[in-house]
Amino acid sequence: MASLNGSCLCGKVQYRVENEFKRFFMCHCTQCQKATGSAHASNLFAVPDNFEWVSGEELVKRFDLPGRALSKAFCTECGSGVPYTSRASGMWVVPAGSLDGEPSMMPMANIFWPERGSWYEAGLVAPRFERFVK
Ligand SMILES: [Zn+2]
Ligand SMILES: [Zn+2]
Repeated sequence: MASLNGSCLCGKVQYRVENEFKRFFMCHCTQCQKATGSAHASNLFAVPDNFEWVSGEELVKRFDLPGRALSKAFCTECGSGVPYTSRASGMWVVPAGSLDGEPSMMPMANIFWPERGSWYEAGLVAPRFERFVK
C-alpha cells in the first residue's frame, strides 16, 4: 500500500500515512465550524500503525474540547490543522486538506448535517472562477 505525505501550510510539520483509511467524514457540527473557521471539517481516519510524524511534532499543539470527544491539533507556527489521535476511537484523525497527495477514499458522509452553516449550500451553487475575484 502506497503512503501519502502530509504537511501544514508553513511546511514545518510533516507526516506520512498509509493511503488506506477507515472513514472519511465531512463534519458540519458547530464545533467543527469553530475549529476550522470554515463550513466543515474534512477528516479521514487511519489506524494507529499507519501513521508517523516526519518532522515538526514538537510544534503541534492539541486542544481537547471539554465534555466532548472533539479535539483539534494545529501547527503553532502557521495554525494549520494537523492530525491527532481521537480520544474516542484511538484512530488518527487526518484533516484531508493537510494531505499532499490524493486519498484513496472519497467522503462517505456529511455528518451533523442539521448543524450546517446557513450559507453552506448557497456556496456550492455560487458562480465558479479560476482565481480570486474582487
Ligand atoms: Zn506550520
Ligand atoms: Zn464536528
